[in-house]
Amino acid sequence: MNIPQRFLNLNYYLQKYLGELPPPPLHPASRQPVGPEDLTPLFPMELIKQEVSVDEFVDIPDEVREIYKLYRPSPLIRAKRLEKALKTPARIYYKYEGVSPAGSHKLNTALVQAYYSKKEGVKRLVTETGAGQWGSALALATKFFGLKCLVYMVKISFEQKPYRRVVMELFDAKVVPSPSKKTRVGRSFLKQYPRTHGSLGMAIAEAIEVAAGDEATKYSLGSVLNHVLLHQTVIGLEAKDQFKALGDEPDVVIGCCGGGSNFSGLAFPFLVDKLSGKKPNRRFVGVEPSSCASMSKGEYRYDFGDTGQQTPLLKMETLGSDFVPPPIHAGGLRYHGIAPTLAFLHQKKLVEAKAYDQVSVFRAAQEFAHSEGVIPAPESAHAIKAAIDEALRCRRQRKAETIIFNLSGHGLLDLKGYEDFLAGSLR
Ligand SMILES: *Cc1c(COP(=O)(O)O)cnc(C)c1O
Repeated sequence: MNIPQRFLNLNYYLQKYLGELPPPPLHPASRQPVGPEDLTPLFPMELIKQEVSVDEFVDIPDEVREIYKLYRPSPLIRAKRLEKALKTPARIYYKYEGVSPAGSHKLNTALVQAYYSKKEGVKRLVTETGAGQWGSALALATKFFGLKCLVYMVKISFEQKPYRRVVMELFDAKVVPSPSKKTRVGRSFLKQYPRTHGSLGMAIAEAIEVAAGDEATKYSLGSVLNHVLLHQTVIGLEAKDQFKALGDEPDVVIGCCGGGSNFSGLAFPFLVDKLSGKKPNRRFVGVEPSSCASMSKGEYRYDFGDTGQQTPLLKMETLGSDFVPPPIHAGGLRYHGIAPTLAFLHQKKLVEAKAYDQVSVFRAAQEFAHSEGVIPAPESAHAIKAAIDEALRCRRQRKAETIIFNLSGHGLLDLKGYEDFLAGSLR
């Protein structure tokens, strides 16, 4: 099994089979599509090119593939003991991204972003992080490529989840709880919401302000944008090869959705067969927390990507850029919107959305741990819950379908959530 040489660009196939692309980002003032010149203060040029590319494939740099070898190809595992426990005729597989040294899929894109930043002479990357997965992935990636890293971490996670902060600091990143007094926009949030727990939307606004004000610093985003989804297709490309070797292929593809990158990364290579008509009945299920369900409950409209209303307008399914999600333990899913491409696919009914409450998700996580031994990230447990429900449907319908879900990360740094779950104190 080899590491893919190229990422897969869904836009090429959307153009080819639907004759239509997701609506472009708009400049908030002019309401015209943003051009590269609007984005150059924030992102390296190569990533801006990838953002709008309609080429079928994008090469993975050799330097990045070399580091991927530390943990890729990630395993595709059949959850046989879970199948047995559920008494289902379905075959349940999971792609395990928790083997990354950062503990989640996020390193897949962090490495590419750090690589191109370094290549283009950037000195420092600034970003936001929720539960800390993205921050720790970027801290590791910037260390590997010799860049500095500044992370605005959502305040509730900074306080409740000290271990990921320690991980980031161990890799020499500077971590600041958000909202902070360090930025103009942070001070305005503190004035407006003095007791706020913070949110990804606020932390993004702080990071963008810093990047926009310093030429040697670029901004880095861990989800939502096309180039991030593109980098995550390494997951689905590998899974497709792995299924081929097994002589099986999925009927249902499942992933949890914060901004939508890990689900898209697994799903897009399999979605190509649905678009082409080769696998018209294959289903795709994105899973969200019911307390922050942008696909299930949001409106499809242009909205800001951040609470400070500084980003270009993105056509998303959104709960509103001023929505502050409740402090659930799946911090990586606390985002008011969803990747424009995923929102577009959901609107076209090519992708389904499901939402579950926190307690049923932790129950599913425990059931999975009991049979497979892996403690999943609370984010990933949303996908597990949906996979279990699909497997139970297969039992009722006596159907031997093949189900795959993405196990986007391990939960060994999320034990506070599990502690609350065991104590019965989860809301
Ligand atoms: C960040 C994160 C998510 C959510 O982000 P997506 O862009 O939707 O993938 C899911 N799972 C884990 C483990 C994460 O760290």
